[in-house]
Amino acid sequence: MTESTTIKRRGMMLVLSSPSGAGKTTLAKRLLETDGNFTMSVSVTTRAKRPAEVDGQDYHFISPATFAEKVKRDELLEHATVFGNSYGTPRAAVQAALAQGRDILFDIDWQGTQQLKEKARDDVVSIFILPPSRAELERRLLSRAQDTPEIVRQRMAKANDELSHWAEYDYVILNDDVHRAEARIAGIVEAERHKRVRQTGLSEFVRGLMT
Ligand code: 5GP
Repeated sequence: MTESTTIKRRGMMLVLSSPSGAGKTTLAKRLLETDGNFTMSVSVTTRAKRPAEVDGQDYHFISPATFAEKVKRDELLEHATVFGNSYGTPRAAVQAALAQGRDILFDIDWQGTQQLKEKARDDVVSIFILPPSRAELERRLLSRAQDTPEIVRQRMAKANDELSHWAEYDYVILNDDVHRAEARIAGIVEAERHKRVRQTGLSEFVRGLMT
């Protein structure tokens, strides 16, 4: 039996974006469960915690003053305002995970994706998730009982804004069925791990193969 061989590679920064209600959170959770090399980037936000959310796991819930302090100290890799609340990606956690050769998963909007690409284009892989239809998108948004009717209305309006940015992403997938969408994401991840530029240990490995 041959020993398993690993070639050193750089971690990727995988971004999932979609309008709210396209199933992005579920797909992110499935990827984290099935692929042991991903670490989720936990954002900071000034929005109120929803009942089902866990502080430190879904988000770090912080005050506007603390958020402003983090921006001032340049502790956020990117940040944006969504539905009147501030959201941002803590820089330190991302750097620590990448240094350990881990892949990082981001659930951020198009504004954050643009900023990440400006800062780390070679490391970013971006996927835009489309719902199968407008009716399904609205159904999923309405079934989120945790949001008030006013918030649901805002999210529907924001969906058009988010959808208009689909062409800025490396990949666009349809979430018509969660298992199929999951398989599509896994396929993209597998291919991206084999990109030559990402496999930093290739030169050394191939040198070892040559006589
Ligand atoms: P929600 O309030 O529903 O959790 O998230 C609202 C939107 O904010 C989603 O589109 C989500 O992807 C985005 N978002 C969450 N965290 C961040 C972040 O750190 N940066 C940016 N730019 N967007 C974020």
